[in-house]
Amino acid sequence: MTGIYNPLLVWLSLVVAFLASYTAVELSAGLNALASAKWRPLWLAGGALSMGLGIWSMHFIGMLAFTLPVAIGYDLGITAASLILAIGVSLIALATASRGALSQRRLCAAGTIMGAGVAAMHFTGMQAMQMSPAIEYTPWRVVVSVGVAIAASITALWLAFTLRTSGVQNRVVKRLGAAFAMAIAITGMHYFGMSAANFSAGSLCLSGDKLDANRLALIVSATSFIVLVGTLALLGFHTGSLSVSLKRANRQLHYLGTHDALTNLPNRQQLSLRIARAVAGCARGEASFAVLFIDLDGFKAINDSLGHGVGDDLLQVCAERLRQDLHQTDMVARLGGDEFVIVAEASSAEATAAGVLRRLSEEIVVDGLPLRVSASIGIAFHPRDGGNADELLHCADAAMYAAKQSGRNTFCVFEPHMNQTALKSLILQRDLHRALSDGELSVSFQPKFRVASQSVTGVEALIRWRHPELGEIAPLEFIPLAERSGLIVDIGDWVLREVCRNIVLWDAQGLPAISVAVNLSPMQFNVPDLVARIDALLGAAGVDPCRLMFEITETAAMQNVEKASRTIETLQSHGYTVAVDDFGTGYSSLGYLQRFRFDQIKIDGSFMRELDAGGERGGALLSAVVALARALRIEVVAEGVETESQFHALSELACDQVQGFLLSRPLPASEFLTFLRASADRIVAAGTACVAPAV
Ligand code: C2E
Ligand code: CA
Ligand code: CA
Repeated sequence: MTGIYNPLLVWLSLVVAFLASYTAVELSAGLNALASAKWRPLWLAGGALSMGLGIWSMHFIGMLAFTLPVAIGYDLGITAASLILAIGVSLIALATASRGALSQRRLCAAGTIMGAGVAAMHFTGMQAMQMSPAIEYTPWRVVVSVGVAIAASITALWLAFTLRTSGVQNRVVKRLGAAFAMAIAITGMHYFGMSAANFSAGSLCLSGDKLDANRLALIVSATSFIVLVGTLALLGFHTGSLSVSLKRANRQLHYLGTHDALTNLPNRQQLSLRIARAVAGCARGEASFAVLFIDLDGFKAINDSLGHGVGDDLLQVCAERLRQDLHQTDMVARLGGDEFVIVAEASSAEATAAGVLRRLSEEIVVDGLPLRVSASIGIAFHPRDGGNADELLHCADAAMYAAKQSGRNTFCVFEPHMNQTALKSLILQRDLHRALSDGELSVSFQPKFRVASQSVTGVEALIRWRHPELGEIAPLEFIPLAERSGLIVDIGDWVLREVCRNIVLWDAQGLPAISVAVNLSPMQFNVPDLVARIDALLGAAGVDPCRLMFEITETAAMQNVEKASRTIETLQSHGYTVAVDDFGTGYSSLGYLQRFRFDQIKIDGSFMRELDAGGERGGALLSAVVALARALRIEVVAEGVETESQFHALSELACDQVQGFLLSRPLPASEFLTFLRASADRIVAAGTACVAPAV
C-alpha cells in the first residue's frame, strides 16, 4: 500500500521548518545578547518551547501531507511524547549554540544528540498512527535518515554559532540563508524517514480519533505560525533584536573606529583624545604626563623575511607585553606598523620605559621560532616639550630616533637639538633615492692586517655618501634610513656590483687576489633569495665567490637562528666566507659561535678603548674569544685599533688580525689601488682554492 503526498501541505511544512529554523538562529543570537544571566533560563525554556513546537509542527504537517488509502488518526499520548522530544532536543541545541566557545567535540556531541532526538521524534510520531500490521522500515533508509538528521544538526549548530559570533555585515541575509539550509535539512530528514516506512497492503489505523487531516494541518500550522512569529516579535521587542543588534553594530563600529584591529589597542584617534584629556587635566592641576614613542628594532627585517603572519603574531605579543604592568591612568596605543605610544605619569616615565625594554627583550616564540626583538623609545614631557598631541608625538618621535641612532634597545628623553636630527633624517630619506641614481655614493676600502707579520689579509668595503648640500653623510646615519625604507636592498646590490667592478679592475692589472668583505645589514641578510641574488651579481661580473666575504652582525643572525645558520651554510657552500661583525655588542653568546660556524669574528672597536685604559672587560672578552676561536679554528679580527698600545695588547693576547686607523683608514678606490700596488708582496691571496680569473 503506497501513500500520496498533498503538495500544498509539503510546502507548508517547509515554510514552518524555515520559520522554526529562523527563530532558532535569532534565538541563539538573542540569548547571547541577553545581558542579564538571571533571565537566561527563562529565555532558554521559552526558546526551546517555540523552536521545538516549530520542528514538531513541521514533522506533523509532513505526516498530514501524507495520505494512505485508509483513514488515518493519531494517538494523542504518543503524539504528545513526540512533541516533548522535539522541545527537549531544541533545549540542548539552543543551550549549545548560545554559550561560550564551541569546541569540535562539543559541537559533535550536541549535534549527535540533537540529530538522534529529531529522528526519535520522527519515528515516535509515526508510531502514533498505530498501524496494524505494524509499519515495516527499510533498515538502510532509517540509518541514512538518522545520519542526515545528525549531519544536518551539526551543520545547523555550527552555522548558528558562527553567525552568532560573526560580524555585522549582511547579517540578516546570512541568518536567512542559514535558516533556509536548516529547513531543507529538517524536511529532508523527515521525508527520507517517511520513505523508509513500508505499509503492508490492507493496513489499518487503530488510533481512536480520526480528525480530518487537512483541518488538523491548518490548526497545527496556524498555531505554530502564531507561536513562532510571536517568539520572533518577542525577541525583537525584548532583547530588542533590531535595536540591540543596531546598538551592537554601533558599538562594534565605534570599537573598530577607535581600536587597532590586530592588537586591539586604542588607535591614533583615541590616543589624541587621551592626550587632550591629560592636557586639560594638567590645566586643572593634575599631575603632568609624558608620551613614550616606542618603535621595535629590526621588525621590518622579521616581517620581510618570515612573512606577515609571523610579523602580526609578533606584534600581538609585543602589544600584550606593553599592556602589562601599566598604571591605571596609563594608556598604550598603536600608531600602525611597529610603532606604539604609551601615555604615562611624568614621574614614572623613565621607569615605564625601562620596564618596557626589559619585557620586550624576553624571547618570543612564534610558530615555534624563537625570536628576539628590542625597542627604541623616545620620551617627551608635557608641558615642557609640547602643549598638544601633535607636538608631543613629534618630539617623542625625534627622541625615539635619537635612541635608534645611539645603538637601539634604549630610551632617550627629548632634547631640542633632536628636532634638527629628525628633520635631517627626513631630508636624507628623501634624497637617498637620488643618491643611488645620481652617483653620489662610492665605496672606500679599509685593509685588515695579520698581527704577527703585518701582511694584508683582506679588505673591507665601506659605503660613502657625499650629499651635494650636506656634504659627507656617515653610513651609520643613512644605512638605518635605507633599512627603514627598504632601499637598502638596492643599495646593497649597488655596493656588490661596485666591489666586483673593482676586483675585475685589480685583476686586470695583475694585482694579488685579495679578499673583499662586504657588510650585510639585517634586512639585506634576511632577503629570501639572498644567495641567489649574490650569485647572479658575481656571475654577471665574472668574479669568483672565494673573493667575497660577508659581514653580518650578531643581531641579524639572532633574529632567526635557524634560518640564519642555513643562510650562512649556503653562502659557505657556494664558496663565500662569512664573518660576524661588531662581536660583543649584541647577544655576545659564545655558544652561538659554535652553532654558526663563522669564518671570522670581528670584535667591536669599543673593546679596544677599554684595552687602552687597561680595562678588565676588553681584555677578558678578547682572551676568551681568542681561546674559543682557536679551538673552533675561526680567525679573530680586532676592529677600530687606533693606538700602538692597543696593538701591543692585542699581540700579547695572540689576536690574529687587526683593522683600524692605526694601520690604515678606509681609502677611496683610487687610493686603495695605489696601496694595493705598493703592498703587492705582502698580500695574502683569498682562499687557497681560488685562482684569479684569467684576463
Ligand atoms: P662596521 O662594519 O663596523 O665598519 C667599521 C666602521 O668603523 C667603519 O665606519 C670604519 O670607518 C670605522 N673605523 C675603522 N677603523 C676605525 C678606527 O680605528 N677607529 C674608529 N673610531 N673607527 C674606525 P663607517 O665607514 O662609518 O661605517 C659604519 C657602519 O656602517 C659599518 O660598521 C657598517 O655597519 C655600516 N656600513 C658601511 N658600509 C656599508 C655597506 O656597504 N653596507 C651596509 N649594509 N652597511 C655598511
Ligand atoms: Ca663591518
Ligand atoms: Ca664592525
